[in-house]
Amino acid sequence: AAAGQLVATLFSSAAAIIAEHEDELGTLDAIAGDGDHGRGMRRGIDAASTAATQAAGRRASAGRVLATAGQAWADNAGGTSGVLWGAALTAAATTLGDHVPNPKSTAAAIAAAVDAIRTLGKAELGDKTMLDALIPFRDRFRDETERGSTFSDAWRAAATVAEEAAAATSSLSPRVGRARPLSERSIGHPDPGATSFALIVNTALPNNS
Ligand code: ADP
Ligand code: MG
Ligand code: MG
Repeated sequence: AAAGQLVATLFSSAAAIIAEHEDELGTLDAIAGDGDHGRGMRRGIDAASTAATQAAGRRASAGRVLATAGQAWADNAGGTSGVLWGAALTAAATTLGDHVPNPKSTAAAIAAAVDAIRTLGKAELGDKTMLDALIPFRDRFRDETERGSTFSDAWRAAATVAEEAAAATSSLSPRVGRARPLSERSIGHPDPGATSFALIVNTALPNNS
C-alpha cells in the first residue's frame, strides 16, 4: 500500500511538470507533427494521476495503481502517444503484479513497457520516437540494478541518460508516426514523445532508497 501511494505521488509530480511544459510540447509537435502532443499528454497524465490517487486511497498495490493509471491514460489522452503510454503502463503493471516493487522487478517492468510500445508501434531505436529515450533509460536502469545501486540512484542515473538521449533525437529524421511526411522539418528539433518521457522520469524521482 505504501508503494502504491508512492506511485500515485510520482504521477502527480509528473502531471505537474507536463502541465508546465504543455505549450512547449505542442509547439515541438507542430514543427513536423500535428501540434497536439502537449494537450494529449496533459489529458492522459491528469487522468492517470487522478485514477492513481483514487486507487492508492483504496490501498491498492503499486501494480494495481499503475494498471489503473494506464487504463485512465489510454481512455483520455487520444493520439498515438496516449495509446502507447497506456499500453506501456499496463504491461509494466502486469509484470509487477501485486508484489512490492524492488529494483530488479522494476527493471523487468520497464523492459515490459518498452516491449509493449515496440509491439504496438513497430518502431525501432533511431526512428525518432519516445523509444529513443526509453531504451537507453531501460538499459541504464538495468545496468545500475545489476551492479547493486539503490532504487533512487538507479532511477536518477537512468533519468539523466533519458534526458541526454531525448536531446540527441534532434539530429534524427522521423521514420514513423505523423512527423514522417514532413520529416526534414524535424531535423534540429528533438522528438516530442522522447522529450515528454525525459521530463516525466526526471521529475518523478523517488527519493526513498
Ligand atoms: P499523434 O502523433 O497521434 O498526434 P502525439 O502527438 O501525442 O500523437 O505523440 C507523438 C509522439 O508519439 C512522437 O513524438 C513519438 O515519440 C511517439 N510515436 C509516434 N509513433 C510512434 C511509434 N510507432 N512508436 C513509438 N512512438 C511513437
Ligand atoms: Mg501529435
Ligand atoms: Mg494527433
